[in-house]
Amino acid sequence: MNAIRVSAFGPPDSLRLSEVQAPDPKPGEVLVRVAAAGVNPVDTYIRAGAYGKLPELPYTPGLDGSGTVESLGSPCPDLALGQRVYLSGSLTGTYAQFALCTFSQVHPLPDALSFTQGAALGIPYATADYALRIRAAAQPGETLLIHGGTGAVGTALVQIAQNLGLRVVATGGTAEGCALLRSMGVDAVFNHSDSGYESDLFAATDGKGFQVIVEMLANLNLPRDLQLLAPGGRVVIVGSRGPVEINPRDLMARNADVRGVMLFGVSPGELREVHARLHRGASDGWLRPRIAAEMPLAQASEAHRRILERGLNGKLVLLPWEI
Ligand code: NAP
Repeated sequence: MNAIRVSAFGPPDSLRLSEVQAPDPKPGEVLVRVAAAGVNPVDTYIRAGAYGKLPELPYTPGLDGSGTVESLGSPCPDLALGQRVYLSGSLTGTYAQFALCTFSQVHPLPDALSFTQGAALGIPYATADYALRIRAAAQPGETLLIHGGTGAVGTALVQIAQNLGLRVVATGGTAEGCALLRSMGVDAVFNHSDSGYESDLFAATDGKGFQVIVEMLANLNLPRDLQLLAPGGRVVIVGSRGPVEINPRDLMARNADVRGVMLFGVSPGELREVHARLHRGASDGWLRPRIAAEMPLAQASEAHRRILERGLNGKLVLLPWEI
């Protein structure tokens, strides 16, 4: 089969298209024919060798994907040959034509979603659901700021927040991104590339502050976020690319919290509940991942450059059968 291989941690060009043996599933494992592989920022941190836990070299990247069940290592009551599924992790990497997974990494793909949309569920939607419903414990009627609303996690947050009955304020970094957020029905949209936009954010709450802020770039925004909170408010950090200095008095003055999210640390039981909620959202019609771009597998290096640039506006996926 064709697969992307990395034999040394380094720049995007370390991603090489190769011909490798398709794996065989053992008992408790399933082989999935990958129709779409989700590209996530974490894939780039791992490829660069800049992540806490690194795979043994050589390896095939990719944690998200969707496709059909090709073969089973042992019978599984929840999976049938040919069934449409999406993946939340894999044993052998999803940037490939086939991926080996444990039974628990494979979930039924709701009929209403395409394969490319299915590749957005494993990390972005699961992170958004866990951040907003569990870590923020967001309540209907609260005002939420999605600081970075245009990306894969951000657009997922918009849909989940609207379903929860929150008032949603969100930022994008380009005119197109802001237009996308407006088209999704976001109540107030601001451009995080504009200087001084933070005072406009505060004004959008009628001076009351946000009950919840979900943050995509905490190393840049956290100090100001703390000043935008309402009394009892919570900042939930999903993304951060470095250290930052804050003034603890901003938290003390508001009896406020800063909470971290790490999807890889969520318990299997909580993850099952997260995926059950995502499935219901897709079946009920409000959960619809937005695809920003589809690229052939051979363009994985380009995809890794693109995912770290501004203005992607949705989910980036690789198509393993288009080389
Ligand atoms: P993505 O699709 O690349 O989106 C990145 C988002 O960050 C875009 O909305 C982008 O907006 C926004 N952004 C850029 N500059 C910003 C600024 N100055 N202030 C606020 N937002 C800004 O990536 P993603 O998959 O949604 O992931 C977002 C972040 O969360 C990444 O850092 C990722 O590593 C992290 N993450 C963490 C977890 C976890 O478990 N903690 C899970 C998933 C993702 P524009 O492009 O419009 O400027």
